[in-house]
Amino acid sequence: MRHIAVIGSGPAGYYTAEACQKQFGAAVHIDIIDKLPVPYGLIRFGVAPDHQSIKAVAKRYEAVANSENVRFVGNVAVGRDVSIAELMTLYDAVVLATGAPADRPLDIPGAALPGVFGSAAFVGWYNGHPEFATLRPPLDGPGAVIVGNGNVALDVTRILAKTRAEFAGSDIVAHALDALDMSRIKRISVLGRRGPHQIAMTPKELGELGHLARARPMTDPKDFPPAADDALLEPGMRKSVAHLRDFVRTGSGPAEITIEFDFFAMPVAIEGDGRAERVIVERTQLDAQGRSSGTGERYTIPCGLVVTCVGYATPPIEGVPYEHGRGRFANTEGRILPGLYCVGWARRGPSGTIGTNRPDGYLIAEHLAADMVDGSRKAGRAGLDALLVERSVEVVTFRDWLTIEAAEVARARDGAPREKFVDIAAMISARG
Ligand SMILES: Cc1cc2nc3c(=O)[nH]c(=O)nc-3n(C[C@H](O)[C@H](O)[C@H](O)COP(=O)(O)OP(=O)(O)OC[C@H]3O[C@@H](n4cnc5c(N)ncnc54)[C@H](O)[C@@H]3O)c2cc1C
Repeated sequence: MRHIAVIGSGPAGYYTAEACQKQFGAAVHIDIIDKLPVPYGLIRFGVAPDHQSIKAVAKRYEAVANSENVRFVGNVAVGRDVSIAELMTLYDAVVLATGAPADRPLDIPGAALPGVFGSAAFVGWYNGHPEFATLRPPLDGPGAVIVGNGNVALDVTRILAKTRAEFAGSDIVAHALDALDMSRIKRISVLGRRGPHQIAMTPKELGELGHLARARPMTDPKDFPPAADDALLEPGMRKSVAHLRDFVRTGSGPAEITIEFDFFAMPVAIEGDGRAERVIVERTQLDAQGRSSGTGERYTIPCGLVVTCVGYATPPIEGVPYEHGRGRFANTEGRILPGLYCVGWARRGPSGTIGTNRPDGYLIAEHLAADMVDGSRKAGRAGLDALLVERSVEVVTFRDWLTIEAAEVARARDGAPREKFVDIAAMISARG
């Protein structure tokens, strides 16, 4: 028998458990420990609520989650309820799959003003993350500035632009839906330091912006290189740029909400009297290597809300070597120290899709097969259970989660797949 603790129940955690099952068969016990009482990490709290087909991937993890030798140990925070050192004495291997939930700060004057939010907080608010349920972002508009040129910036923009009716069939939480319904935002500016050829936005997400009920995306023809240059792009990127070029043509004409793509634009300060009221932006230019630098030309965008979508970091955990510059655990292909590993966003940093975490999980299982010997003398799950009982930690099991999920489905509004519980006490009491 081998005892493995996986910390984090997002995609990386479940793919690691799946790979370990394939690698070791019945000769392994895997505990997937999560600080929240509900599983699946960013699938529940990051992926946009109007992208239900993507969220449905979580169903694929249920076969692993329901296996005899895999347990979900929810509502147990590593670093608070149990330490890494303790887990390493209890298990043969500890795998950190804790993701990268901390917003990287926008390091400019005024970034701490009320009305400025990182995307982890803002996305967590509309997805019902317990830490962000009380955020109350100011939507009294008329302007909102979204900083970043990746898919998260597109998600935030689309959520701000949709009508109530366009959220039908989504699992957006009621507090966000009601607030967005009252929103007075009329202009959403999406700032990118570089140009249309340097975006990190995928065609599907960009295309969706062109089909919104009351909002119209706009791009400026002056921002584009000659059309012939698009042929040099890889096919997905070429499609994305084609959407942006379409927005030049379709962006004219009246609309209730305009979405303005402002390329070659870098925020240099956020100003306001006690809250964000405007963003000072500097025009940029690119050098031959594609690096951006300010030109000195500045202008102001009035706004009441700023959402920065400029990346994430993994919070350090005591006793675990950490790479500060890259905001992730220090590791060599997932190995941190003997018996300690990392996987997913905690290993690579915040890039890639849900599926990118699968090969990561399989790589870790290979390392474990090479590093671990059979015939463990560790206490494993029995040892963890004893420790948690001693500390009066209320553990939520996978069976409990299925009961919580059923309760969320039962209280769903018209057409919605579920109405999420947004605080931990409510989640725990819903398990009956
Ligand atoms: C806003 C947003 C939208 C996205 N949309 C898409 C999309 O549409 N399609 C797509 O393919 N990808 C999308 N992604 C990317 C995808 O979500 C990630 O690739 C994936 O979730 C990373 O998996 P992970 O397991 O490494 O981390 P996470 O999913 O973040 O899981 C980490 C888990 O660790 C737990 N945890 C953290 N710290 C502790 C601790 N100390 N103790 C115990 N547990 C802990 C957390 O509670 C969480 O459950 C999106 C990402 C974001 C941020």
